[in-house]
Amino acid sequence: MIKIEELHKSYPIGKDSLHVLKGIDLHIKEGEFVSIMGSSGSGKSTLLNIVGLLDVHDAGNYYLNGQLIKDMNEKKAAQLRNKFLGFIFQSFNLISYKTAVENVALPLYYKGISRKERLEIALDYLDKVGLKDWAGHLPNELSGGQKQRVAIARALVTKPKVVLADEPTGALDSTTTDSVMDLLKDINDEGMTVFVITHEEEVAEQTKRIVRLKDGRIISDEFTKASKAV
Ligand code: ATP
Ligand code: MG
Repeated sequence: MIKIEELHKSYPIGKDSLHVLKGIDLHIKEGEFVSIMGSSGSGKSTLLNIVGLLDVHDAGNYYLNGQLIKDMNEKKAAQLRNKFLGFIFQSFNLISYKTAVENVALPLYYKGISRKERLEIALDYLDKVGLKDWAGHLPNELSGGQKQRVAIARALVTKPKVVLADEPTGALDSTTTDSVMDLLKDINDEGMTVFVITHEEEVAEQTKRIVRLKDGRIISDEFTKASKAV
């Protein structure tokens, strides 16, 4: 599903450049549940953004669903994102003046689906994350955990093959973290590939594979106990 070979990324800093990813090799098969760990500044978000076609790499190869990602314009990248990828962020990124159900329905707008049908589908997804009764509420009327579940419903509504999550539990307490992780587990059980950044060991252990990054390199890549559970 995701294949990365000898990937490099630098950011320009004035006349200099900061070499952030220094030769990443990573292969994530369809249906995997992978977490990426590493200290602040190790390059986790940079890697996820490249995988998510929100940023471009400088060297090496990236294949998404078998397709080599190279010299891509924003229009093409947006098409591929809409087709394959769903995003969940630490800060939820919900639109404050839209209700829960309207937020979830938003990605379907870009697919040319009618408003009535969009809201029906969105309501189904809110139901999936246990928030059907909150459909008409605005984000500021929801708790952090509820907002994150709305964001998860929004990430899923287009039926992506891969869900990318950057610290999805970073702003949540431990009980709410567990419910969000349970939801990601369910998604993965349904066959979706899930790739999540976290700095919490307990969160990583709930995924099936942990990739550790240090100074832009992978220093370990191991399956967890959760991958062996039946
Ligand atoms: P954190 O755990 O704090 O989120 P991270 O592992 O996600 O850290 P990145 O966000 O990938 O780290 O950043 C890696 C390095 O690249 C950092 O030194 C950061 O300052 C730098 N960096 C990230 N984005 C940019 C950018 N757009 N321009 C310049 N430098 C950047
Ligand atoms: Mg980050």
